[in-house]
Amino acid sequence: MNSPPPVTKIVIVGGGTAGWMTAAALMRVLGALPGMSVTLIESDAIGTVGVGEATIPQIIGFNRLLGLEEADFMRETRATYKLGIEFVDWLRPGHAYVHPFGSFGIDMFGIEFQHFWLRGQQLGDTSKIDEYSIAAMAGKAGRFAWPRPDNPKSPLSKLSYAFQFDAGRYSQFLRRYAESAGAARVEGRITTVNQNGENGFVTGVTLEDGRDVEGELFIDCSGFRSLLLGQTLQVPFTDWSKWLPCDSAVAVPCTLGGRMEPLTRSTARIAGWQWRIPLQHRIGNGHVFSSSHIDRTAATDLLLANLDGKPLADPNQIAFKAGHRVRIWDRNVVALGLAAGFLEPLESTSIHMVQSGIARLLALFPDSGFSAVERDRFNHETLREYRDIRDFLILHYRASERDDSEFWRYCRNLPPPDGLAEKLELFGSSGRIIRENNELFTEDSWLSVMLNQGVKPQSYHPAARMLDEAETRKRLEHIRGVIAQAVTQLPRQTDFLRSIGGAIAVEEYLTA
Ligand code: FAD
Repeated sequence: MNSPPPVTKIVIVGGGTAGWMTAAALMRVLGALPGMSVTLIESDAIGTVGVGEATIPQIIGFNRLLGLEEADFMRETRATYKLGIEFVDWLRPGHAYVHPFGSFGIDMFGIEFQHFWLRGQQLGDTSKIDEYSIAAMAGKAGRFAWPRPDNPKSPLSKLSYAFQFDAGRYSQFLRRYAESAGAARVEGRITTVNQNGENGFVTGVTLEDGRDVEGELFIDCSGFRSLLLGQTLQVPFTDWSKWLPCDSAVAVPCTLGGRMEPLTRSTARIAGWQWRIPLQHRIGNGHVFSSSHIDRTAATDLLLANLDGKPLADPNQIAFKAGHRVRIWDRNVVALGLAAGFLEPLESTSIHMVQSGIARLLALFPDSGFSAVERDRFNHETLREYRDIRDFLILHYRASERDDSEFWRYCRNLPPPDGLAEKLELFGSSGRIIRENNELFTEDSWLSVMLNQGVKPQSYHPAARMLDEAETRKRLEHIRGVIAQAVTQLPRQTDFLRSIGGAIAVEEYLTA
């Protein structure tokens, strides 16, 4: 075999969450490759986007890859647990539900649980689907414990969780990790990106003070600027704002107050929605909105009028566009994070996209020949992931009953993309859910959002009739009871955090 030598000189442009996650993972996985060097360039003067605090369960896998102790991580990043997202006023004002992590009920005869629940509803049962999810019920009760996948009889085997953390502290935590593993950090603003005159490959970058940093593989983590992929290589952007019209956000942290469940909250507003992410020392808040439907001042006032504590900083205004670069890997540049694309944080997917991008890059890591096959595979999988997430986000707006503003009327009347249209039709017909290509959101996630946002199946799987009426009611009641009982046995989240050594000291949150 005569393969080209491996790529060993890697330059990461940007030191936000994406940049430091990438540096940490590269050092962990490839750090021992002979000659390997990872250099990260960031500019304190430019700073980071400063938001991005809620995650999905896959983050646990990332932390495990790095070998992090959960208690250290929780303390260092002021993290809390997250069992799902509470959606308030999304179906209509006054309505609320939880999109939980983990699964609902118990499948029977190999048939998904929702069919038995739907049969129960037809027979007059009035229970809510949330009552069959331990994550939803524990979340609402402010309780938490680790899942028990080793004990399939326990309702805790159906639980899954993620974290809510301080974005700035997370980057710093990963920076310490990466630097101690040997990554180099260069502080300074990049003013010029240098390219090979023949093939356009990036050869290096020049900083404001004249220093040059050269490399073989460049990871563009420069945020919305997309310095290498967008600005230098001119890779076009696919604009999805027709489907996801929110294009702005205003974010502000506040002191602790209100309920402190292990849940992120998303409250629908007149032209967008507001997030609330409770951490150990403060609450992260933000209002995502469509600037065509509400102006910035009104959006900021609405946010400030709906905080559970005192603001801890001036509101941070952020403009964005839904969509992604047409190619995420082009020549010797791979973009991760906001430099690659962005979908609003309604389901907390951006940090996950960084993580899955890193995993894909590691799996398809190039040698110095930079073959097109690996690059094309990377792009194919990444774009599919964007599309899958886009469709799940559109569902939240599309399925709403709200018609109390121009914004909601626009969202409700938008024809769905093909894949989503098929999902809605199949579920509406018989409660069946298709999950193609191992897409990120599971059947349980689709079930939760479709049902709770008013997509009503006309029918259900015929196999659900194998249980007669009495048996259907009995089993539903039993499952609900076991979950309700299990929740009462769980510790409160704060007690759990203390018990594992993950809680911060009282004075640390008093001085947030
Ligand atoms: P940034 O944080 O913007 O970092 C860019 C880096 O590039 C900085 O270090 C900067 O200094 C550097 N840089 C840029 N130009 C230069 C230059 N010329 N020279 C040197 N350095 C340069 N994700 C979630 O998973 N969950 C959430 O709840 C969530 N909420 C969000 C809310 C909003 C409103 C937004 C906009 C995003 C949210 N995200 C969320 C996304 C998340 O914030 C980002 O995915 C994540 O922070 C990664 O950002 P980044 O590192 O790509 O970019």
